[in-house]
Amino acid sequence: MTPGQPNDDFAGIEACPVCAAHTLALFMSGIFDSETTHVMECMKCGLQFLSPLMSEQEEEAYYEGYYRKQASRHFKAMNLADLQERSLRHYEQYRSNYLELVSGAKTILEIGSGSGGFLRFVRNHFPETKITAIERCEENVAFLRACFGEDSVVAGVDELRGQKADLVVAFGVFEHVRDSRGFLAAMRGCLAPGGKLALNVPNKNNALVYAYALNEFKAFSYMKQHYYTFTEQSFELLAAQTGYVVSGFKYMQVWGLDNHLSWLRYRKPRDFSDMSEFLSQQTLASYDQDLIAGKLTDMFMAVLAPVQSIETP
Ligand SMILES: [Zn+2]
Repeated sequence: MTPGQPNDDFAGIEACPVCAAHTLALFMSGIFDSETTHVMECMKCGLQFLSPLMSEQEEEAYYEGYYRKQASRHFKAMNLADLQERSLRHYEQYRSNYLELVSGAKTILEIGSGSGGFLRFVRNHFPETKITAIERCEENVAFLRACFGEDSVVAGVDELRGQKADLVVAFGVFEHVRDSRGFLAAMRGCLAPGGKLALNVPNKNNALVYAYALNEFKAFSYMKQHYYTFTEQSFELLAAQTGYVVSGFKYMQVWGLDNHLSWLRYRKPRDFSDMSEFLSQQTLASYDQDLIAGKLTDMFMAVLAPVQSIETP
């Protein structure tokens, strides 16, 4: 197989899970944690997806002690309080996007709250807003309850007993979900009339992957847990298939110029504070803005609204 070329070997065997096209190309062979997993790319809607996906059994084992395993990807040991603080910095950096998203919502449901950076952001800016977290990692659940109260976390959607939210958010979750359409349908059931669903996902057109074509970064960033790497077009299609419309996309850069310079020089993840030291806040911010303008960021947010909520009765 030749990377980047449409390949007839896949015709009839595999179709794009979003648009069902059979025009697939091999984007990459072998990923961070599996030499036998391919990254396939749909030439029609641009979606990238792993082939094969983990089996459900494998997936269950994979998420056992997930955060402990993830810790091996950090270049220094971080506890949950540090992780919450680092995550909060992201929400503060893109404060206007998140304030706009949250403003007007009286109730919020967050799927996959991790260490609680977004809960902290909402508590800080909208103390009256009720935010409920769904989180599967027990260590995080205990930490979130200690930070935000016993009733701040529920184990699953069933425990909400039909309560609807004005805003449902899932940040860094959707790309891990095997059944994208099933997830979107389930989330629609959690939304109050006029509600919105916001999903943050890795951006396919990441500057390190495309603009700089850094193979070492590609080998690091494509991993078994990220089943899909979405494009705007693949979101538009998924939304139409599940009774939503896309009300907008927001591009945001999580890792800055300091991190990119470090990757370009050393071609591996490392402590890049030596790069941070000589870069002004102004330079860092201005680089982020350039990536955002070019839609070359490492992440983007898709905001979806159920169709019935935008139609006039
Ligand atoms: Zn497709």
